[in-house]
Amino acid sequence: MRNSLIALAAVAVSCTAPQAMRRDAKIIRGVTLIDGTDAVPVANAAVVVEGNKITAAGPASTVAAPEGAEKIDATGKFLIPGLMDLHVHLGSTGGPGFRPDDYTRDRVLQNLNSYLYFGITTVRSVGTERGAGMLLRGEERRKPTTARMFTAGRGFTAPGGHPSQEIGAIARQPKDEGDARAQVRELAGQGVDLIKIWIDGRRGQSPKIEAKVIETILDEASKHKIPVHAHIHSLADTRHFLEHGGAGLLHMVRDTEDLPKEMVDHLKTRRIAFVPTLIRQELAWYYRDKPERLDSPDVTGLVTPDTLRAMKEAAASAPAPTDLAKKDFDIALRNSKKLAALGVPIAIGSDGGSQMDLPGLMTHRECELFVQAGFTPIEVIRAATSNAALALGRQDELGSIAAGKLADLVLLDADPTADVTNLKRIHRVMLDGNWVDRGSLRLK
Ligand SMILES: [Zn+2]
Repeated sequence: MRNSLIALAAVAVSCTAPQAMRRDAKIIRGVTLIDGTDAVPVANAAVVVEGNKITAAGPASTVAAPEGAEKIDATGKFLIPGLMDLHVHLGSTGGPGFRPDDYTRDRVLQNLNSYLYFGITTVRSVGTERGAGMLLRGEERRKPTTARMFTAGRGFTAPGGHPSQEIGAIARQPKDEGDARAQVRELAGQGVDLIKIWIDGRRGQSPKIEAKVIETILDEASKHKIPVHAHIHSLADTRHFLEHGGAGLLHMVRDTEDLPKEMVDHLKTRRIAFVPTLIRQELAWYYRDKPERLDSPDVTGLVTPDTLRAMKEAAASAPAPTDLAKKDFDIALRNSKKLAALGVPIAIGSDGGSQMDLPGLMTHRECELFVQAGFTPIEVIRAATSNAALALGRQDELGSIAAGKLADLVLLDADPTADVTNLKRIHRVMLDGNWVDRGSLRLK
């Protein structure tokens, strides 16, 4: 059995909580602890939460219950850090189109609730945020009540560049370098967590943002100490972006499997993460191949009857995927696995909110695709927790179960290391030290 693999004393981490912090103390006992790092799972572990922080975690025999702590017997269950999705677009139905008018405060909130419902306690919204989301982020920072949110505000592309064919003028389309610089300053004024650039000519179908504009954005962003992350497709664009100080990558290099050692070394030594977003590619055929997937309670729980009908029509009328699309997908899977094996941080991101890409549910599909790419379930969990926290620059607060971290936790009814789909077998979710009432979250 798997338990024979579980080393009892491998990750003993415990500490004495300061007396002053003993408010709202909880101890989760008897659980198998999967801490989000490469540590071996610990059977019969205990985790103490005081206020909004984890104050001790390790084998139950090494962790004392604080006086008056609520005791939670979690025998037979599995505890992981709250999952993180680093590639989302909020304020969308997740139906067949990303319609600019769908974006309201209410829908941003519903999307955040959907992530939380599926155990994703942190999301990073990359490039389509407008006023309502920026305001909500401020409220969340003061007191998290739904998934934690990091945001890039509105991202940059070329005039008429991808994805303006889908989202119109939401993406910034600076007319020259001076304009780009001014718009970076505007984003700095908004206090964005990162800046997003789309660098993708869609194989000649769309204008691509010019190299000198990319360099200007990177230069101005560095003055404001804001990391810049890019949607990429080609190796050449990826290298150019990294050479000028790019901090992170969305999607995967898809035009070659020949990844130069010097680029790999750069990614490794600077801990720059890729967020491959394999699901965005698979969605071209995911529902087309099996329309019955749209009848699952996971789907119907997230969408209104109107959106469901539109999704069914879109799936039925979708063109067969081209050989090129299938080939790109296979390359992305292989490059993701190859880079991970070479020590490059790889993190989970779903592009949730883009066409047919349901918030939270597709984060879990991305985890399954990582397994298809050759990742072990433990590696997938790491990609969705500690690697993601690293990519956010929040590894001191988020992404693992250890004393001092924020108490964002997911308690599972089944072993995710045996089958990654067990990440959806959620018993309870804890956000910022409080159990979430999942049943009361408004999702649609
Ligand atoms: Zn995206």
